[in-house]
Amino acid sequence: MANITGTDAVIPFNALSRRIAEARPELLAAFNATVEGGNWILGPRVSEFEAAFARYCGVAHGVGVASGTDAIWIALEALGVGAGDEVITVANTCVPTISAILKCGATPALIDVLPGTLNMDPGKVKAAISPKTRCVLPVHLYGQCADLAPLQALADEAGIPLVEDCAQAHGSEYRGKRAGSMGRLSAFSFYPTKNLGALGDGGMVVTDDARLADKLRLLRQYGYQERNHSVLRGFNSRLDEIQAAWLLRFLTRLDGGNARRRAIAAAYTSVLAGSRTVSAPVAADYGRHNYHLYVVRTKDRDGLAAGLRRSGVETAVHYPVPIHLQKGCAEFCRVPPQGLPETEKACAEVLSLPMYPELRDDEVARICRALQAVDA
Ligand SMILES: *Cc1c(COP(=O)(O)O)cnc(C)c1O
Repeated sequence: MANITGTDAVIPFNALSRRIAEARPELLAAFNATVEGGNWILGPRVSEFEAAFARYCGVAHGVGVASGTDAIWIALEALGVGAGDEVITVANTCVPTISAILKCGATPALIDVLPGTLNMDPGKVKAAISPKTRCVLPVHLYGQCADLAPLQALADEAGIPLVEDCAQAHGSEYRGKRAGSMGRLSAFSFYPTKNLGALGDGGMVVTDDARLADKLRLLRQYGYQERNHSVLRGFNSRLDEIQAAWLLRFLTRLDGGNARRRAIAAAYTSVLAGSRTVSAPVAADYGRHNYHLYVVRTKDRDGLAAGLRRSGVETAVHYPVPIHLQKGCAEFCRVPPQGLPETEKACAEVLSLPMYPELRDDEVARICRALQAVDA
């Protein structure tokens, strides 16, 4: 029988309204102060948030921009990536990683992923390097860092920089270091569903390199050294004060939120340990996952999604179609002659379960029971 406590309600894949409800008084106070402040773009709150988030990542500089896509694009621009160049990345990512490379005029050189973590396979980098390669761009997929040490060694050997796509990796760690602190430049997104999300668009590039940080600041605003004096080909990609004010509030909740995500992940993983048909995500021993997404694998994805749906559990797929098979991307990308078999296999088998700090314990328990039921 349905009950009025809502415990039989469908458990949504995402529930941003809960995060906002919990923080509402603080968000409204920050909004009011910003409105009164009379400075709405690149003002004191943006500077404060840039400093706070760079410190959080363990680097010296942060440069706020308009989105995560722009953060990748402007990072590549700062490194001089342009027409005719190639950037090595993966195909089981969100389209924006690719959009950013294409916006520079460069070609994404896609390589395959490891069958376990589904992150960039360091063993595939060497064969993809050409005289045109300007950057290695691993994506920390689902919030788990790519294996950065061998990737960095390969990039060093080739004399090219490594840039981290950290859009899903706020607070994730690799061998004790925060995501974003290892690449020459690292790009973050503050899209609302990310572990650190705004109530709109936002992004940041972080780096330890003061010279590159200066260049990023020029690039994001018309190349202005000072007002109306442009010193290089720049753009408009800025973070606004209201988003920065809100992000400062949400930053204080990031570690707690990530800890809650890890606890939920542990509950799912312990149920899946007994499953014959569904495998838990592979957690590498080199780091700390922030569980931006909790992604299982199964040969019968449609069956699992339908079974969970019948139990009132919404799911999603990240990502159903790899980049090299998408109409809007395929013709612009380079793919190795042997194709991307691990990537294609993963895209056919992955399913994401609800994962956000605001999931209640009774909901987590219901999801665990639903997982057991579909397996029985
Ligand atoms: C979200 C995301 C981006 C882009 O961020 P936007 O802020 O939406 O532009 C880039 N890469 C990955 C892997 C993402 O998940």
